[in-house]
Amino acid sequence: MQFDTEIFELIQQEFNRQQHGLELIASENFTSEQVMRAMGNVMTNKYAEGYPGKRYYGGCEVVDKSEQLAIDRAKVIFNVDFANVQPHSGAQANAAVMLAVLKPGDKILGLDLSMGGHLTHGSSVNFSGKLYEPHFYGVKKEDGLVDYDMMEEVALREKPKLMICGASAYSRDWDYARVRAIADQINALVLCDMSHPAGLIAKGLLNSPFEHCHFVTSTTHKTLRGPRGGIILMKNDFENPMGIKGPKGEVRMMSDLINLAVFPGTQGGPLEHVIAAKAVAFFEIMQDDFLGYAHQVIANAKAMENAFKQKNYDIVSGGTDNHLLLIDLRNKNISGKKAENTLIKADITINKNMVPYDDKSPFITSGIRVGVPALTTRGLKEDHMNLIVDWIDSILIDTENEQKIIKVRTEINEFMKQFPLYPEWKI
Ligand SMILES: *Cc1c(COP(=O)(O)O)cnc(C)c1O
Repeated sequence: MQFDTEIFELIQQEFNRQQHGLELIASENFTSEQVMRAMGNVMTNKYAEGYPGKRYYGGCEVVDKSEQLAIDRAKVIFNVDFANVQPHSGAQANAAVMLAVLKPGDKILGLDLSMGGHLTHGSSVNFSGKLYEPHFYGVKKEDGLVDYDMMEEVALREKPKLMICGASAYSRDWDYARVRAIADQINALVLCDMSHPAGLIAKGLLNSPFEHCHFVTSTTHKTLRGPRGGIILMKNDFENPMGIKGPKGEVRMMSDLINLAVFPGTQGGPLEHVIAAKAVAFFEIMQDDFLGYAHQVIANAKAMENAFKQKNYDIVSGGTDNHLLLIDLRNKNISGKKAENTLIKADITINKNMVPYDDKSPFITSGIRVGVPALTTRGLKEDHMNLIVDWIDSILIDTENEQKIIKVRTEINEFMKQFPLYPEWKI
């Protein structure tokens, strides 16, 4: 067989890009080598529709064991009764929960996308906003914090069947008990989508959603530092409140409905190579090292918050409790788009982001989102955050100065040589 030099050359280029640059996208991370190794191997060849012990294909004895390990480890990490590790992505995990508990046209209530929510929490361009009737709560204009009074008001008025908490661009912790108290008034189910802060929750550094939320979904590739994928967790199994019956007329447990909603509901064969890599990531999360990592993520985010504040940047919600910052650039007279496009020229990767009550479109935006999980994995500490903010600020105050941009990029590429990415890596 001929070797595909074209694609492997591009993989090498992507490796170089990741190695040289400052990765500040809040949703990205660098997996360990063993997580990557678990993804690129013979497990990709196996069809395994179904679940461990109940498959629609022969030859699943081995992948049954690795999938079961992933399930068992997820249950230990989060101290829960139920885990489904098959969702191909965070979006698929949310789709499965909604398929399990909603009928088309049912009402859902989530955080508005323009206030930090996720597409799958009811956006009109997503299945969640097309199949279901979406309603939203926001954050308060005065302090940028989640508006639980508004959540309650909309919930009591609209009586959604499913309430969703969790966000993609929110730097503060959540009051899950409050969300549940609101839901209980209207018999709504609660889904927490912890995709972003899951790794910090895993180590007990943020409030736990599990006691209060019926379902918890997550990606596995953000602060959990695993392969690209999703999971669904439940603290306790329970009889489904919709009265859905099984083949023998028995009331279905929620765990059955969630499993059925993933397969055959929304997916076919699971990605057993990715599930093996999820198991490896969970193994890593169970080690003490990962607690150090999670603490360092929060320390770095705090250090970055302070550095930005010293330079008079306007942080939405006044600061951060987790791994990210949302920065409103309106007092700096630069759009999110311009900031993103200029910083990338210096090998600084961030993303433009709407800020609450933004007056610019999602394509322009007034803000940027920055996060530290990836750089923390590379080994950067609090002191380095000042240096990074100096670089970012020097570019944002002088966006047309190409010479300065090149100078900063050279400094960054030199600086990142201290923090090699996958030193053993060979393609
Ligand atoms: C990233 C994210 C997702 C989606 O994950 P994908 O794997 O990209 O589908 C879902 N919900 C939230 C809150 C997220 O931040």
